[in-house]
Amino acid sequence: MLSADFISALEAICTARHGAAVATMDAGVDEGNLAAGVVALPASTQQVQAVIRLCRQHKVQVVPQGGRTGLAGGALSAPGQLIIDMNRFDRVGDPDAVAGCIEVEAGATLQAVQDACSKVGCSPGIDLAARGSATIGGMVATNAGGMEAFRCGVMRNRVLGLEAVLPDGSVLNDLTRVRKVNEGFDIKHMLIGSEGRLGIVTRAVLALEPLETAAATALTGFATARDAVEAFAMLKAAGGLLRAEIMWRPYAEVTAAQTGLEAIPAACEGDVLVLFEMAGDSHDTAAEKLQDALSELPTLQGGLVAQSESQAADFWRIREDSFAVERVWPGGLWYDVTVPLDRLDDYTQGLQARVQAVSPELFVSIMGHLGDGNLHITIAAPGGASPVKDRCDAAVFDRLKDMGGSISAEHGIGLEKREAFAAHGDPSRQALTRQIARSLDPDGLMNPGKIFV
Ligand SMILES: Cc1cc2nc3c(=O)[nH]c(=O)nc-3n(C[C@H](O)[C@H](O)[C@H](O)COP(=O)(O)OP(=O)(O)OC[C@H]3O[C@@H](n4cnc5c(N)ncnc54)[C@H](O)[C@@H]3O)c2cc1C
Repeated sequence: MLSADFISALEAICTARHGAAVATMDAGVDEGNLAAGVVALPASTQQVQAVIRLCRQHKVQVVPQGGRTGLAGGALSAPGQLIIDMNRFDRVGDPDAVAGCIEVEAGATLQAVQDACSKVGCSPGIDLAARGSATIGGMVATNAGGMEAFRCGVMRNRVLGLEAVLPDGSVLNDLTRVRKVNEGFDIKHMLIGSEGRLGIVTRAVLALEPLETAAATALTGFATARDAVEAFAMLKAAGGLLRAEIMWRPYAEVTAAQTGLEAIPAACEGDVLVLFEMAGDSHDTAAEKLQDALSELPTLQGGLVAQSESQAADFWRIREDSFAVERVWPGGLWYDVTVPLDRLDDYTQGLQARVQAVSPELFVSIMGHLGDGNLHITIAAPGGASPVKDRCDAAVFDRLKDMGGSISAEHGIGLEKREAFAAHGDPSRQALTRQIARSLDPDGLMNPGKIFV
């Protein structure tokens, strides 16, 4: 437990909560996020610096948190640690449409940044279903991906500049607003994806893209992922493809049933369903363009172009309500992997066979971001029983690296993928990761145990 002296010193620096005040806070995706029971809420870079220096003085471990929407257990905390909650860092600067950039504080939500950018016809070029809560700092720390990554890149590609408080309390001030910077090692990229182990992100400059204001959505069916990938390539070549989200039928049927939308996936045949979103000058021209492009697809097994915004929203509900799988199949194991596009059928068919060999009763749900080959997989047992983790892990991970894929696509390693990272990560890369973390944080106070022990 943190001492009364430490808490008084903390309260002298910034707003802090403990006891009953923490019990009323929203723990987010993981109940254990707030287990530390003491939360610092700094509102300036100087306050973060002072908190970090205090923690170094008292050898207190810190767990940075943003929206607590992370899906790899990176924000989990324990008694005796201090949570640094960045939600008061929520200022969003004025977007510069000409230069194509915006400066924001780390606790600003993605939605707040999207709203600000839309006023000048721009977008931060990244979107994910947790947009209302996920913060820019958390997205930088996890190198978030999402639905637009196949055309705009992941967070690493969106960040032009970064400010962060480093483990020794000094500030990395690299808030460049330009695309071309060639000044030796690009240190900010070490912070991006470091999951709070190398510093606390306080501000970022993000690159902007033109905002597409009119779009149409279609739900399409295919016999195989290979057919879906061919369709993706054709629609991309036609121009204006904004999103391509893939769902294997078991996932779509579970989420559609949970939202009362069973008729939608039933209108398409095939094991693989894809939501395509296409831009246009108006909804009608986008819908016409999408319909024309779909009619050219030789392997299409049925498709529905949404006729209204509310119908399109229903299509997206089926894709975005991923927690429906947990409601119907509680206690499942969640994975987030990347598979090269030309190996999707090979990988998913092999996965089904390997999981069935573990137990024929196990349910496998797969969906994800088609253009990136990013699959979100859930393996669950009937009646909320726990599937055998090491055998399921082997079924998911074993062939990925040989194929050229990744065991962690966009959610990060956190605590949940730590064993997989240790088992499948390149040994030299793992050694360097440890070396870098130790040299910046010799006392191991920054989000310890996440990514590696
Ligand atoms: C419904 C849903 C859909 C999702 N869809 C996607 C998706 O499509 N793509 C995707 O990539 N992710 C997705 N996610 C996961 C999640 O939204 C992202 O990982 C997001 O980047 C986490 O941001 P956060 O602010 O919630 O971070 P948190 O959960 O609070 O923290 C995540 C990690 O970042 C660290 N951290 C947080 N803030 C800071 C900071 N300021 N400085 C340093 N470290 C920090 C934490 O210590 C932790 O390790 C989804 C989550 C949900 C619930």
